[in-house]
Amino acid sequence: MNKKGDNMEFDTKTFKENDAKYYMQAFSRDIMIVKGKGSKVWDSNGKEYIDCVAGIAVCSTGHCHPEVVKAICEQAHELIHCSNLYYIPGQSDLAKELTGYTSTSKAFFSNSGAEAMEGALKLARLATKRKNFVSFMHGFHGRTMGALAVTHKPTIREPFEPLEPKCSYVEYGDLESLRKTVDDTTAGVLLEPIQGEAGVIIPSPDFIRGVREVCDEKGALLIDDEIQTGLGRTGKWLAIEHSGVKPDIVTLAKGIASGFPMGAILARDDLEFQKSEHGSTFAGGPLACAAARASLRIINDLLPGIPEKGNLFKELISSCSPRGLGLMIGFTLGDKCPLVQKRCAEAGVLVNCAADGNMRLVPPLVITDEEIRTVASVINNSLK
Ligand SMILES: *Cc1c(COP(=O)(O)O)cnc(C)c1O
Repeated sequence: MNKKGDNMEFDTKTFKENDAKYYMQAFSRDIMIVKGKGSKVWDSNGKEYIDCVAGIAVCSTGHCHPEVVKAICEQAHELIHCSNLYYIPGQSDLAKELTGYTSTSKAFFSNSGAEAMEGALKLARLATKRKNFVSFMHGFHGRTMGALAVTHKPTIREPFEPLEPKCSYVEYGDLESLRKTVDDTTAGVLLEPIQGEAGVIIPSPDFIRGVREVCDEKGALLIDDEIQTGLGRTGKWLAIEHSGVKPDIVTLAKGIASGFPMGAILARDDLEFQKSEHGSTFAGGPLACAAARASLRIINDLLPGIPEKGNLFKELISSCSPRGLGLMIGFTLGDKCPLVQKRCAEAGVLVNCAADGNMRLVPPLVITDEEIRTVASVINNSLK
């Protein structure tokens, strides 16, 4: 499977030329991945990698998990799409399973993380009859206009202003500023329980509990963006569980359906869209629900083993002072980060530089101890 020529005749050169000529160049990339299985992927030259990017925390059950492939194929033979004008096979089952795992009450589906954020913003405005939001510096909530408005990073947001809703940004971890900023116009506070795109920044559990208190004092909703941290990534269904806090609204996406595009908004019992207040042509379709239900069953089995795998990983790369919860691990390299990413790829390990010289490791949750050992030694060698 990993040998060049075996079912993998790709003309990479022509592909790259066509990409440069015909595809909008919003990404910088070099490798073309053509096959995946478990924690491994293969590029167009047949080179094998252990994948610690996993489609950016998406392929939690590993690449092409047989049960996910089976669920998608079986559903594709029955019904691919029918519209939310009709009851959709698997949709309410998935809603029941997801809300059960996360101690929430109701779900609504979307096709991506950003779109889940849009729904959460709408729901918060409806529920509170307030207009504004507060979020945290270096946070990331997506690239559609509403999600972008609550995303702090000026370089990705400012070119698209003016944006709605109005949002104020507070230093992550600074409860005093938060208390001063949230007021009776604030519909919701958007919180990543661990900042992912910023480079795996982990706040104290006291900070998260403080955010809950401020929201309660000011009557704002706590919107917990678990798009990257959720669904087993940190060893719990939701990362916010580590601090014992209950959010009002939760957004999910990335790992929910093993790479089939899907997102979800979960909410407490009294927060709900009424007839025609929200909708989507594709969201929560039969294929997405089938992929998600299979994924959740697999994640449920993997969950107990995640903390130990994360600890092993951190121990083996302790010289880089890693931080992390479960299999969401980061360490700071500064200017060296892109070079280390390149060296790791050359040595057959995919890793990803997030913002500000922070290396991010979000491997499939199925990664084996042996693969973790291999990855760790490649990382350690790449630092020399
Ligand atoms: C990836 C991400 C998003 C956006 O998800 P998309 O599916 O890319 O729109 C939002 N919030 C967080 C925390 C993310 O990591």
